[in-house]
Amino acid sequence: MTDIGDYNEKLVLQTIRATTGGISQSEVGRRANLSRQSVSLITRRLLAEGLIETAGRRNTGPGKPHTVLRVVPDACLAVGVHLDPAHIMVVVCDLYARPLVKSTMEAPTRSSDRDIARIAARIGELSDSIGAAAPGAETGPEDGAARPVRRRLLGLGIAAPGSLDSTAGTVRRPPWIPWRDVPVAAQLGEACGLPAILDKDTNAALTGEIWSRNLPFEETVLYIYVSHGVGSAVSAYGRVHRGSSTQAGEIGHLPTGRADLRCECGAFGCLNMYTDAHLVVDQARAAGVEVPVGAGIKEEIRAVSRAAESGNAGAQQSIARHGAALGPALRTLSGIHDPERIIIGGPAWPLLARYGMPPIQDALGDWQAGPDAVLESSHLGDDVGAVGAASLFLEQELAPANGAARLFLRPTPAV
Ligand SMILES: [Zn+2]
Repeated sequence: MTDIGDYNEKLVLQTIRATTGGISQSEVGRRANLSRQSVSLITRRLLAEGLIETAGRRNTGPGKPHTVLRVVPDACLAVGVHLDPAHIMVVVCDLYARPLVKSTMEAPTRSSDRDIARIAARIGELSDSIGAAAPGAETGPEDGAARPVRRRLLGLGIAAPGSLDSTAGTVRRPPWIPWRDVPVAAQLGEACGLPAILDKDTNAALTGEIWSRNLPFEETVLYIYVSHGVGSAVSAYGRVHRGSSTQAGEIGHLPTGRADLRCECGAFGCLNMYTDAHLVVDQARAAGVEVPVGAGIKEEIRAVSRAAESGNAGAQQSIARHGAALGPALRTLSGIHDPERIIIGGPAWPLLARYGMPPIQDALGDWQAGPDAVLESSHLGDDVGAVGAASLFLEQELAPANGAARLFLRPTPAV
């Protein structure tokens, strides 16, 4: 297996990856603050490993034209698995966290063993379809003949709703998913012959945004994840804050100040009383919107979204109420975290954004007046959980461990 364990090697690889269109060796040295000799040695190694390639020569000033280096995007791949209450999504992503193949499967059931077996089978099918395999598969088990694997699978990331233990790789008691205390990272990793890690869907989604877009490292980013419920994640210096027990961002019981609805926790007006997806559906139904029964929450939300798009006022209002509850919560969170960028995404958000975003923009009017404030919907759409899960693994495996090193890693034009 490729050993990309060396800190400087990761730094050089990331510096090259963070440029669009390639970069010269001397510019890599300047940005990574490494000597010419170090960069030369490392780039030779990365070239030999097939992780980077040369892409012609370019003139940028006086002197000899320099050789352009760029990443080979599919030299190493990562699998992403998103366990969502509505479905399971599997992707295989390249080094830019772009899905090369993806597949949506039926939602998790009460039998986690059977679920894990079918996920592993699907990962195998997807990997085969693009000629990717774990490095250990380079030699056939029966005849010992070499089967060169050009596309190497580094490992797999799994994203799931909390509560979970990311250190143990165990899903604890997620709401809406009938798994209880399942060591999914160990079991799925073993079934696939790959190293595996587990994290919350919110953290995965934010990691996916950062990794796939090379967001400026110095930004504090607040991410709001909209699925069956809502959750948040925050990052600074390119790293997601997880808290002491991966519970950071559980905002369902954030007080909204309203007193009309009592939460199961005993308090009045908790955020989840206004933002759970089934409430949007219930309110739309109460307003006379036709929503198919028993189609699953994703299809129900899709029906409300379609009705809103076609001009149904009841559907539009039920979605706007979701945004009207989320807006003040976001104002509170932006006061706590002081982000430059707020991203809203998650599986349900593409269906809610059109009528859900305006009340959020209203609530964040003051914050948006700041000089550098960005409020946007996720660029990853429906895939965000699975792409985020793959990004978790890429981040763990390939990012230089020390956050300070990211000082040099800014998205920059080709040089
Ligand atoms: Zn509550």
